[in-house]
Amino acid sequence: MADGNAECNIKVLCRFRPLNKSEINRGDKFIPVFQREDTVIFGGKSYVFDQVFPTNTTQEQVYNACAKQIVKDVLGGYNGTIFAYGQTSSGKTHTMEGNLHDPQGMGIIPRISEDIFEHIFAMDENLEFHIKVSYFEIYMDKIRDLLDVTKTNLSVHEDKYRVPYVKGCTERFVTSPEEVMDVIDEGKANRHVAVTNMNEHSSRSHSIFLISIKQENVETEQKLSGKLYLVDLAGSEKKSHVPYRDSKMTRILQDSLGGNCRTTMFICCSPSSYNDAETKSTLMFGQRAK
Ligand code: ADP
Ligand code: MG
Repeated sequence: MADGNAECNIKVLCRFRPLNKSEINRGDKFIPVFQREDTVIFGGKSYVFDQVFPTNTTQEQVYNACAKQIVKDVLGGYNGTIFAYGQTSSGKTHTMEGNLHDPQGMGIIPRISEDIFEHIFAMDENLEFHIKVSYFEIYMDKIRDLLDVTKTNLSVHEDKYRVPYVKGCTERFVTSPEEVMDVIDEGKANRHVAVTNMNEHSSRSHSIFLISIKQENVETEQKLSGKLYLVDLAGSEKKSHVPYRDSKMTRILQDSLGGNCRTTMFICCSPSSYNDAETKSTLMFGQRAK
């Protein structure tokens, strides 16, 4: 994914979840050996990332290590993307969302919303902010609006600056972290609508939360805008029928991956011997992304 563009800053971070109860009961082995801050040994081979988070890393530590800077960058007019990649049950949703209403368990998205408003309240009062969020999912290459269930097949268009966007997708203005959380809860409830098997559905669909920030200095009329895509990808074990390069996912993110971007990819891994082949291919994918 790295395109050699000096402005494009891609960080690849690797996070291992702990063994769960059923893995322990089954007698699975714990495979990773955490060597340095940036290295994990898995099945005898070492993998180097910008940072490796061992199983006991807290949500707060993960946030401080990666997302804090992105918030500052987006408020400074950059576009950013944070992805979670990994097989089903490797910790993608835990990392991106976590427990939305628990201060310790909160993942990246709720922490980012709190952080954004904290920054804004501390900024120059000549600055006027407009913050909008959208929430949609892509299933079988169809874009479904999670804030309006009647919109089940939205398309990707380009604006006059050739920046791709999802046409007709609901945008909600938000003025506090609580409002952001309400929007996420609403979207998650809608996600269940018309879905028969939620586990299967969530492992096959990408979910995307978009935060757009526009600011204007009322004195100088200077304007700045930044977008942040927060992406919980479909489980990496499923071979998609859509070629990656042509997919709607890729088109939407085009502008946030090239040029003026700040991109962080979380490589989420299971530590269990039971998943070791899939974990190796996840780790390899993460190494290639650098
Ligand atoms: P995915 O979204 O990749 O399918 P989840 O985030 O839903 O996986 O994680 C699967 C299960 O493992 C969930 O019950 C989640 O709470 C738990 N889990 C994932 N990562 C961690 C972690 N770092 N610490 C504790 N529990 C975790
Ligand atoms: Mg998930």
